[in-house]
Amino acid sequence: MVSKYKGATPEQEKLYRQAKWKKFRAMHLKVHNICALCGITERLEVDHITPVSKGGEFWNKNNLWTLCISCHSRKTAVDTGKVRLISVNENGYPLDKEHPWNEEG
Ligand SMILES: [Zn+2]
Repeated sequence: MVSKYKGATPEQEKLYRQAKWKKFRAMHLKVHNICALCGITERLEVDHITPVSKGGEFWNKNNLWTLCISCHSRKTAVDTGKVRLISVNENGYPLDKEHPWNEEG
């Protein structure tokens, strides 16, 4: 069975199902009702800045931010190592000297 909560352990899934989390989440969304990354105000979700799976605190307000669904799925892909964010220069080339595009020859 595929978990609805990406990267969450069964214990964490229990936390997400609690009424306490739903209230906590709703209170956060009341104050932070805009996506922290792209600024849209629709289809918002509450995300843990440091994923709980990586030691982030579940009930710490300071570890929460609001993301829209598309930013959330992008961040989750980065958190789980499916996508690596790279920095590029003004020509669009990766700054990482190890990147294949920067290899000489
Ligand atoms: Zn967004």
